[in-house]
Amino acid sequence: MEQILEMYRDLGVSQEVYEYGEKALEKLKTRFAAIDQVAEYNQSKVIAAMQKNRVSAACFAGTTGYGYDDMGRDNLERVYADVFHTEAALVRPQITCGTHALTVALSANLLPGDELLSPVGLPYDTLQEVIGIRESPCSLKEYGVSYRQVDLLADGTFDYDGIRAAINEKTKLVTIQRSKGYATRPTFSVKQIGELIAFVKNVKPDILVMVDNCYGEFVETIEPSDVGADMVVGSLIKNPGGGLAPIGGYICGTKKCVDRCAYRLTAPGLGQEVGANLGLMTSLYQGFFLAPTVVAGAEKGAIFAANLYEPLGFKCVPNATESRHDIIQAVELGSEKAMIAFCAGIQGAAPVDAFATPLPWDMPGYNDKVIMAAGAFIQGSSIELSADGPIRPPYAVYFQGGLTWYHAKLGILKSLQEMVNAGLVEL
Ligand SMILES: *Cc1c(COP(=O)(O)O)cnc(C)c1O
Repeated sequence: MEQILEMYRDLGVSQEVYEYGEKALEKLKTRFAAIDQVAEYNQSKVIAAMQKNRVSAACFAGTTGYGYDDMGRDNLERVYADVFHTEAALVRPQITCGTHALTVALSANLLPGDELLSPVGLPYDTLQEVIGIRESPCSLKEYGVSYRQVDLLADGTFDYDGIRAAINEKTKLVTIQRSKGYATRPTFSVKQIGELIAFVKNVKPDILVMVDNCYGEFVETIEPSDVGADMVVGSLIKNPGGGLAPIGGYICGTKKCVDRCAYRLTAPGLGQEVGANLGLMTSLYQGFFLAPTVVAGAEKGAIFAANLYEPLGFKCVPNATESRHDIIQAVELGSEKAMIAFCAGIQGAAPVDAFATPLPWDMPGYNDKVIMAAGAFIQGSSIELSADGPIRPPYAVYFQGGLTWYHAKLGILKSLQEMVNAGLVEL
């Protein structure tokens, strides 16, 4: 279509880059159709949960103060619990981010003398201070919770012998991070996570398993809570917020675990009874309703990026053809300069702050300088089109999100354009 070419030209995408993209897209039709099917299933799952719980206009009313008898909040938690097939859920604006949700889940269910085990290698950067792998005031370590880690084998699979050896009488909770985070290991499928959960529970039946589900929600038709996780935890400014939730996190799991989380989040004795919704319920419900479709668009963007960059010689994780279990695409760009160019393209495609230039900076919770491109309606929202990465070899950018597939496509085309303009690639 001639009009699209013109529009892309106005937005700074050359005909050469556009056509390179179209060529890659032709081969992706079947994969995109499969993604649409998962989205259709998950959309139905969310609607069924909303109908079952009789969501009505009354659920969207704002509450203030203590938030006693907040029926909108309580019902949203039942909707989440039904979608994740768990006994209970804690879904609140008082959970400030994903790291906070994970911190609540861990510190509520680990007591002094207990041990936490990560059988999947080093956890996400911000969790390292929470656990005390990097010293920090108020870490779990400071409260007497010890930590053990078993790294993945060289081929990215679980080291079952090592895991069996690491489980001891103190091991109370196992944390499994579904998504790769800022590592270049594979993301685990829900099925793989299920196998790992079965293994650790076989070694020690009373072990609790928490899955850091960030970026994984709605990518498959099942969630880690369908395969034995006691808690699944994530951020509402990622997948399940659908781009509309302005803040929040969720913990879905067994009643026993979630009750403890509520007592940790608010106060012993108060638990889930307090926590006003501050008028955010419409965004949280509507965002959850949109989430399956938004996630599908983001996943298409990730696959498109791999199919653009891999043929140009950049290592992509996941690669251009393998199956997906989260919405993150890592592209190893090999230099800081290329990371800056890539991020400039993503930024330049944004509906908000497109005029800004992303540069590396020191960010709280992260060890290395980090570059972040985001032109988001919600600050830091990474279900919106965004790219980030720590400035360290292999200079990988982690690309994710896009509230619509078309926006994701534009962002990736513009990133490639910036790379071409900087003389870093030739098409
Ligand atoms: C984003 C993320 C977190 C932390 O979430 P924040 O909302 O940034 O605090 C934790 N784990 C993984 C795997 C993540 O991707």
